[in-house]
Amino acid sequence: MTTRQPGWQQWHDESEPIRIGISSCLLGQKVRFDGGHKRDRFLTDVLGQWLTWVPACPELEIGLGIPRPTIRLENAQPETRLVEPKSGLDLTDKMQAYAETKVSELQELELDGFVLKKDSPSCGMERVRVYGRGGVPTKNGVGIFAQVLMRRWPNLPVEEEGRLNDSVLRERFIAHVFCRHRWRSMERKGLTRRRLVEFHTAHKLQLRSHNEASYRRLGKIVGSAGTIPDRELFENYEDEMHTALSRRPSSKRHANVLYHALGYLKNVLDPFEKQELVQLIEDYRKVGRADYLAPSPRGQARDFLPRRPALPRAPSKGADAQKQSLVATERC
Ligand code: SF4
Repeated sequence: MTTRQPGWQQWHDESEPIRIGISSCLLGQKVRFDGGHKRDRFLTDVLGQWLTWVPACPELEIGLGIPRPTIRLENAQPETRLVEPKSGLDLTDKMQAYAETKVSELQELELDGFVLKKDSPSCGMERVRVYGRGGVPTKNGVGIFAQVLMRRWPNLPVEEEGRLNDSVLRERFIAHVFCRHRWRSMERKGLTRRRLVEFHTAHKLQLRSHNEASYRRLGKIVGSAGTIPDRELFENYEDEMHTALSRRPSSKRHANVLYHALGYLKNVLDPFEKQELVQLIEDYRKVGRADYLAPSPRGQARDFLPRRPALPRAPSKGADAQKQSLVATERC
């Protein structure tokens, strides 16, 4: 680790790929019941440039073929079962046993996140159709594989491809994935109290933008170093960090953090620059976005920060543009 790199960059280990599990059909693999796929171009063409995907198709891997009869979740109080309605075959136990083994294998690979296929009785993360006796479904189920994944691995960032179309949820997921990757990089180098303080210092604005209460608890955890066993200290911090990052950030919290960051710049900005930045922050607070490249009497917004190293330049076009915007998002 070099101390000359700014902020988050010193924590990012490029030699270690960011590994994300994914429902195979989202990569374009023809594994669905009808022999089709559900390729998601944002995942394959944009996010995929930054990650190594680890695909899994639970239905295929428990031995269901292609094509195969449809399966669904059924309400069999007090639990939900995974059933092939045509034959009445109950696949719940088989899928649960597979999921337990598969999650253990994936934990060996040290994933940084998982993207699940929405609506699937195996992979769906939420609001999956559950059929009752009358055949009328309620959308309150969770796919059997997804249930096991989230129960066994509560700190893993998990999202569905549909929810990643929401820019706030997408930003939260990406920030969480990158943060988890940095934490793992630090673990590989060896957790020490000093590194924990440095990690917390480098990430505190990001953590604060997600949840103020969690941020305060994290500060107390760091402050408890030396009073509790180190192992407990690091576990407490990791758990609370994941709790904070799983909260949805808001423009209000981001604006509060931006004001805090403005305090660091008070000796390098003149009154006019401060006033303009305050206006930009207020614009952002109201509508949830502000144009980084917006012209102002003194140039563009980014021109206020010439003394800050490694700011992203204007996006170019196509995938490159989206890739750039991911960098900008992650640096928030
Ligand atoms: S949703 Fe899951 S189980 Fe269904 S085809 Fe896709 S990867 Fe396979």
